[in-house]
Amino acid sequence: MRKYIIAGNWKMNCDRKEAAALAAGLAKTIGGMTTVEAVLCPPFTDLTTVAEAIKGTKIGLGAQNVYWEASGAFTGEIAPGFLKEIGCAYCIVGHSERRQYFGETDETVNKRAKALLATGIKPIICVGELLKEREAGKTREVVLGQIRGCLKELTADQMRTSVIAYEPVWAIGTGKVATPEQAQEVHAAIRAELAKIFDAEVAQAVRIQYGGSMKPDNADELLKQPDIDGGLIGGASLKVDSFTALVQAATKPS
Ligand code: PEP
Repeated sequence: MRKYIIAGNWKMNCDRKEAAALAAGLAKTIGGMTTVEAVLCPPFTDLTTVAEAIKGTKIGLGAQNVYWEASGAFTGEIAPGFLKEIGCAYCIVGHSERRQYFGETDETVNKRAKALLATGIKPIICVGELLKEREAGKTREVVLGQIRGCLKELTADQMRTSVIAYEPVWAIGTGKVATPEQAQEVHAAIRAELAKIFDAEVAQAVRIQYGGSMKPDNADELLKQPDIDGGLIGGASLKVDSFTALVQAATKPS
């Protein structure tokens, strides 16, 4: 049985004071929940503040990006070991905003995922099609191509601990959520691809989150789908009430 995972991608929001208040608020509302995994992914500069605020709770800490080398002359980059040291259990890689604005490719996502796994951090690997790709009937081809590229050379054990986030790019931050049927169709295709690359047991173990305008009022229907195992949440992760409601939605039996 896969445990739901709801992760908040705070993106480039929240200064230290705001981050401390948001994390402290969530520590109170969802800090004791054990039936669903809740993860907060604040900006790098808030990681220690959030780590402090969620200390002693069940909430996990995650980063939004990482570099694949352990140290060296890579100005502006952050190594997996640095994230591990401050308590990150997860790290998002390959978010569509990083692909769009910072030149992230499946190859660099794959390098980042492997470096994280080698350090004991679980990657949340993002994939998803653009609107024009969906309209051209290429969703499956695009998403499964990203899956193959991002997961290259991962071992079965590494795959089992990794999380995949299916985020249709046209649904991110737009208020246009995928229908539960549209999301389920892609999630099922991803799981079938995992069975091909690895095996059926690995495919059944991997958690696949949906991301893209997921909110308390549409979460139930999405989370009811058999291959949707949680959410990667942008906008609705920035308020205690909405993120709490999303985590609570994931505690309900499907
Ligand atoms: C995201 O950034 O991963 C995301 C899903 O954003 P939003 O929930 O705001 O669409």
